[in-house]
Amino acid sequence: MTPSSHPSLYVAPSLAHALDALAERGAGGAPLAGGTWIMRAPLRHEAMSPAYVGLGRVAELGRVEVHDDHVVIGAGVTHARLAEALRDVPDLQGLATAAGRSANPAVRRAATVGGNLSTAGFAAADLVPALLCLEAEVDIASRAGVQRLTLEAFLAARDTLEPGRLLTQIRVPRSAARSAHARLPLRKAGDYPVAILSIAVTRDGSGHVARVRVAVGSVEPVARLWPALEAALTGAPLDARSAERAAADLAEDFNGRDGIDAPGWYRVAVLPALARRAVAALL
Ligand SMILES: Cc1cc2nc3c(=O)[nH]c(=O)nc-3n(C[C@H](O)[C@H](O)[C@H](O)COP(=O)(O)OP(=O)(O)OC[C@H]3O[C@@H](n4cnc5c(N)ncnc54)[C@H](O)[C@@H]3O)c2cc1C
Repeated sequence: MTPSSHPSLYVAPSLAHALDALAERGAGGAPLAGGTWIMRAPLRHEAMSPAYVGLGRVAELGRVEVHDDHVVIGAGVTHARLAEALRDVPDLQGLATAAGRSANPAVRRAATVGGNLSTAGFAAADLVPALLCLEAEVDIASRAGVQRLTLEAFLAARDTLEPGRLLTQIRVPRSAARSAHARLPLRKAGDYPVAILSIAVTRDGSGHVARVRVAVGSVEPVARLWPALEAALTGAPLDARSAERAAADLAEDFNGRDGIDAPGWYRVAVLPALARRAVAALL
């Protein structure tokens, strides 16, 4: 890259400034959060944006609020800070694990929740399945106002969102009793997991599963829920070996993506073991 082709950087001092700057730059501008994905664009042979709007000084994006019935997470909160903030919140241990085990300590201190959810093309994002199974919603802001979407709806629209949009916060209802996050990192995959399974469960008085959400990441290009496994687990006692068997019976629901780190069939093949580990962590 020649010096003249370096992207420009404007560091926004507030949310309003960030939204103005993104609107003015249109398709030629993009948010820069932790930069951990953007900085590796040359390694992926991807073009960088001509202009970036830095979010690191936007105070409005940096809060975590833990309420009795929900949690609000600013898009600029780093993985490390999120893990720390949720350390003693029993129902959100899946999300705390996802934030606290992703990548490596240096990356966790820089990478943000908003960047994790917004990165198109990042199949192995840990926070996406962790937040999907917790029924998270996201706020998408532009100069015209704020729109709240389920995380599933956001993921479906992510690649086609108009320029000038910023994910500002995540709202997580505290409706599940327990959650867990199991991931399989391989040394040759760098610090990225080849498959991820997140689960959130509420049990009835006799210990049977009353409500369960299961999300799978890194297996297909975008993380998604696993309705067939949810149906298989509902109404039964929560048991790690049964979950492993059910996942093995249903694993062909997934069409694994081939990558240099692992072939698609392998990502699918490890799902039963991840289901066992996730349920064991819940218990
Ligand atoms: C070697 C390595 C290994 C890693 N391993 C893992 C891992 O195992 N699991 C994991 O979850 N993460 C991992 N990460 C971190 C991962 O890159 C980040 O979680 C995330 O994808 C990017 O977050 P960021 O804040 O750095 O975003 P950036 O790199 O700043 O931005 C990424 C993209 O999101 C857009 N964006 C950023 N913030 C917003 C926003 N608020 N609204 C709209 N768009 C936005 C940017 O324009 C850009 O397109 C790893 C990183 C590295 C370098």
